[in-house]
Amino acid sequence: MSANDDLFARAQRVIPGGVDSPVRAYGSVGGTPRFLVSAEGAYVTDADGRRYVDLVASWGPALLGHAHPEVVEAVVAAARRGLSFGAPTPAEAELAEEIAARVPGVEKLRLVSTGTEATMTAIRLARGATGRDLLVKFAGHYHGHSDGLLAAAGSGLATFALPGSAGVPDAVAAQTLVVPYNDREALEAAFAAHPGRIAAVITEAAAANMGVVPPASGFTTFLADLCRRDGALLISDEVLTGFRAAAGGYAQVLREAGEQVVPDLVTFGKVIGGGMPVAAVGGRADVMDLLAPTGPVYQAGTLSGNPVAVAAGLATLRLADDAVYTRLAAASAALSEAVGSALTDAGVPHVIQRAGTLFSVFFGADVAGGVPDYATAQRQDAAAYRRFFHAMLGAGVSLPPSAYEAWFVTAAHDEAVLAEITAALPAAARAAATP
Ligand code: PMP
Repeated sequence: MSANDDLFARAQRVIPGGVDSPVRAYGSVGGTPRFLVSAEGAYVTDADGRRYVDLVASWGPALLGHAHPEVVEAVVAAARRGLSFGAPTPAEAELAEEIAARVPGVEKLRLVSTGTEATMTAIRLARGATGRDLLVKFAGHYHGHSDGLLAAAGSGLATFALPGSAGVPDAVAAQTLVVPYNDREALEAAFAAHPGRIAAVITEAAAANMGVVPPASGFTTFLADLCRRDGALLISDEVLTGFRAAAGGYAQVLREAGEQVVPDLVTFGKVIGGGMPVAAVGGRADVMDLLAPTGPVYQAGTLSGNPVAVAAGLATLRLADDAVYTRLAAASAALSEAVGSALTDAGVPHVIQRAGTLFSVFFGADVAGGVPDYATAQRQDAAAYRRFFHAMLGAGVSLPPSAYEAWFVTAAHDEAVLAEITAALPAAARAAATP
């Protein structure tokens, strides 16, 4: 038995499924999850001492690569000053300023610890601001695991083909309307059916939890107009895309495409904590000021704005300069091209979809024409991905253990790292082609 097998057996005795977050369990690709003991740059090392090129990047946060020395130094320095005070600290406003400066429309922010809390708070704020109850979300979008957001959600629910979650009261689920992504008519129909009753539409700025599915040209503008006309708020979830799809998040990608969409509220996570638990909800000052203690919408957290976590986020954002995004864009382009040509050479039908520097690969003839929504994403060939995943893992490249996730590069994925991945591709593509 390998150390990974031993650790997995032991973990399963005390932790449900042996993992603290479902997709880590390799449930859809099969096999024993790798128990990681360290990570540096573009690499992770497991309990058996095997080193892998990492394309998970902690599911997004590791923008600069793992354990960037200056980020680690900032964390150690903050830890020496104290782990948690339960009082305001100077660095919280600094991090809020760094985020606000990068995203138009974000006038005020509140820091929380997880993306789940950020979206949960955004929804409560939208309901408080509008006095309405209904929420619209898109099928295949994932916004964390709060009750109202688990209907037709992406990420682990997509991976395990779950329509929703047990334990969510019907009365709560009934407040969420689920609409197909990129479908203008369905969205209009939802507003027409419930005029003046929708508090908010929440959307991933670009969907990346059912594989990467960017909004169709003009769709986000259409969505924003519809919300404004009805008096509903638009919540843009940039937990995954924020400061990763581009320096200014997916909002910047949209702006560069000529779409000036300023959401009422925006949620952030992942990169803004640089690998530590920091997330945020931000947006219009008048809406944000509805939060306690200035307003009637309650939200709180013992560890919110934790000084050690904030130090990691601040260091990460300050280090994320133009050179980092240039590197990220180059790595993303080179890798997606190499994957595409290896799959084409092996005769594997596929499509690669992009949202800024984010991309993912859908396998299968049924999706090769493009994936605009969740119903199409569900027609991908998950078995081909499984074979590809294991061939890559065997060759020392760790991909997301699910066909429904983005592939994450970091600024540490340089030419040499990319060459290592590229060398593994032809055999993995042949494995994908061979049922
Ligand atoms: N929103 C989006 C778009 C996400 O990708 C995620 C996490 N993958 C979340 C919210 C939830 O964040 P967390 O896991 O930190 O609760």
